[in-house]
Formats: sequence, C-alpha cells, structure tokens
Amino acid sequence: MLYKSTRGKVKNIQFKEAVMMGLAEDGGLLIPQEIPHISSSELIKLSSLSYQELAFELISKFTDDIKRDTLKDIINKSYSTFEISDVIPVVKKGDIYIAEIFHGPTYAFKDIALQFLGNLFEYILEETGQKLNILGATSGDTGSAAIYGVRGKKNINIFILHPKGKVSPIQELQMTTVTDSNVFNLAVDGTFDDCQFIVKKIFSDVDFKKQYSLGAVNSINWARILAQIVYYFHCYFKAAKGEKVNIVVPTGNFGNIFAGYFAKLMGLPINKLILATNENNILSRFVNNGDYSIKSVCETYSPSMDIQIASNFERYLFYLYNSPEKVVEKMNELKTNKKISFTEEDMKIVKDDFASYSTSNDETLSTIKSFYESFNYILDPHTACGVNAANKLGKIELNICLATAHPAKFYDAIYKAIGKFPEEPENIKKLKELPKKLYEIENDTEKVKDFLIEKLS
Ligand SMILES: *Cc1c(COP(=O)(O)O)cnc(C)c1O
Repeated sequence: MLYKSTRGKVKNIQFKEAVMMGLAEDGGLLIPQEIPHISSSELIKLSSLSYQELAFELISKFTDDIKRDTLKDIINKSYSTFEISDVIPVVKKGDIYIAEIFHGPTYAFKDIALQFLGNLFEYILEETGQKLNILGATSGDTGSAAIYGVRGKKNINIFILHPKGKVSPIQELQMTTVTDSNVFNLAVDGTFDDCQFIVKKIFSDVDFKKQYSLGAVNSINWARILAQIVYYFHCYFKAAKGEKVNIVVPTGNFGNIFAGYFAKLMGLPINKLILATNENNILSRFVNNGDYSIKSVCETYSPSMDIQIASNFERYLFYLYNSPEKVVEKMNELKTNKKISFTEEDMKIVKDDFASYSTSNDETLSTIKSFYESFNYILDPHTACGVNAANKLGKIELNICLATAHPAKFYDAIYKAIGKFPEEPENIKKLKELPKKLYEIENDTEKVKDFLIEKLS
C-alpha cells in the first residue's frame, strides 16, 4: 500500500515512511492511496478471529513493507499489555452494546493506538539506525498513553509537558510514576495552552528540531487511525450477525470516528456513525446544520473532548470531495474565516454516513445516573455523551457505543452524578505507592530547550 497527502503534493510513499513523517510535508495528512475492500465472505472469515489475529489481517492490508512475522510480533506485543486477553469486551446493557475500548495500561482508548505506535517506532528506528525524541504537551490522556507506549524502548526518548497541578490526580500519577530512563515529565508552571505554545514554538525552530531528532505523537499519525479501525470490526462481530448497526463514538479530534468511517468505506455494515460531542459541539453543528465554525472552548465533565479544532477532519474532507485542490481550498477557508461552508449537496452525503448529538453537562450527569440506576453500570463522562446521543437518535437500529475511558479516571463527575466513587482498578491503586519522577520547570520556551539540550547531549 502506498500513501499520499490529502493536499496532493506528496504521493507514492511507503507505510514506514508515512509513520515517520507524521504530518505530510505539504501540510496535509497522509492517507492510503486505495481503500481495501472486505467482501461479505471475507467478513464471515474475519468474524471468528481473536483480536490480535483480526488486527493482523486488517493491518497487514496497509503495511506491505513490513514482514508478516514482524507485524505479528508488533501486534502481539502491543496488546499483551491489556488486562483482558481479548483486548475489548463488549457488554449488552438494555438495548445498547457498550464496547469497552479502555482496558489498556492507562485506562483510556488511546492506548490501543499508542501501544501499537510505540512498538512500530521501535522497530523502524532499529532498522534505520535513527533516533527519535518525542516532544508533546498534554492535558491528560494523550500524554500518559504516549508515555506508556514508548517507556523503556530503544532509540526513543519522550518529553511530555503538563500544566503543573492542573491535570487530574490519576492522570498525573500515571505519567509521573513511570521512572524509565527514556521518560521525562515536565511539570510547567502554567496552563495547558502555555505547554502547547512552548511545544509549537520549539517545533517551529526547524534547525533545532532536526538537530535533536524531535518528533510528535499526535493523533494525525496514520498508524493511530489504522490501529483504531480494528476495533470497529471487532465490536461489530461481537454484537451483530451481518445486519447493519449504528456505532456511537464520543469524539473530539475526529480521530476515533474517522477510523470508523474508514471501516465503513472498507465495507463494514455500518448504518450510521453517531458522532457524540459534549458542549464543544463544532462537529455536531457540522453534521446537523453544516455549521463548521470555530468557537471558544469551554470546560466540561468530559475534558478529553474539549476541543474545537478537530485535526483529523481534513482526512474526512478528502473523502467527501475526493479532490486535493478542494481540501486545500477548504483548509484555507478555515484559516481565513474560522469556518468552512458546505452546500446542501455536501450535507446530503454527510448525513448519509453520520448523525450527531451534543450532550450538555447536565445531561452527562443525568445519563450517568440513570444508566447506573437501570443497569448498575458506571459510564465515564465521555461515554455518557455517547449513550445519551444514542438514546436521542438511534432507538430503532442496533447501537454499539464505544466506551472511551474507565470511569475511575474521571471520578469527580461520577461522584457528582451518583454520590459515590467508582471502583478503582488494582493497577491504578498501585500507582499511589510508586516513586515519582518529574521535573518542575518555568513557563519559558528557552528553559525547556535548555532541558532538552542537557538531557540529549
Ligand atoms: C481522546 C479521547 C476522546 C476523543 O477522541 P478523538 O480521537 O479526539 O475523537 C474521547 N474520550 C476519551 C476518554 C479520550 O481520551
């Protein structure tokens, strides 16, 4: 499989090159040049496979520059860190299926992609003799999942900036109790935006970036999407027998749901992808009214979806228009006008694939409460946005809702909703006794640069 950019200037590159490139050199995002189609007879064959076998069959369609045995090893290693051998349990509660995609080391779904990406990086770097120093800013989930993805790996260091005292206590523990010598947590005296500003500033110094082999692990890497396509198939096989289903996806960056859209393009019988947002509803406004205009971000009970700029949306624009010129035009429109406009015809296509609902803070809590009362099952606040969207939109068809985080990660909202705390998994309890490793640092780009230089020389 070869890859090209959504903006048309990069093409015919191999998978491994696409993984290392991250963002395409023309500013676009990388996508495969073809869409592998899964026939209905192949679907039946795939339906009896274990998670790892299924991952191998699907991922290998996109990675012909990796030997089959090597890919198998990478996949098996990536999912051996999950606490459930079949990786993702799917449970039925009333008339909805809940697919728990959060049983990885940091208890949010980002582990599924970042465990895979970490092993992939290690393999590619070993082969090419390169080194990679990952630099990123986090408000919580991504940083911890990225750290767990690369801890202890050869030829990789990771530097993650978080706003000191402003990530949840569990997220902070998950990051700072990783004491491997290649992991550096920087607690910045500032906000998440300050952290992100510093990272962007450092990346904009092209010479510095090159000299210190800096790279990112953000959600635009194609390998992350690829790993996520797998669980759409897996959940489908667990819940359905050939009929069409709706899959409900709590989303922010359009990353998770784009993987579902791609699974649909490949032939998975999905009726509608139900795009669930919180009060940061740019994607809901888009699906329902064609209104893709950037507003300011507000804080909600589902902080991992507090996003206005959905970085993976550009990939969808490519498939909507099938034209790199049109993608460039629309991305320029976004830059100048802070919005993208869509025609009625565009919206017909959009509504064929998607439905959407934006859940308020109050509805998040009431959904957690009523679901708990009905089924004695605690939804995390992100998943609650999904279940509420399904209740509002999709009663008739079979609905599968992706549960993106363990409720214990967001216990404050749970306490507000039901007056008690969710049970903590043993692996989270254990973190409280572990030694911590972190570096406190001033809110100053030069100080962070000096830190990198010191650690990398
Ligand atoms: C990151 C995250 C999301 C949003 O995923 P996107 O890929 O940005 O759509 C939803 N829920 C949780 C718990 C997350 O960590």
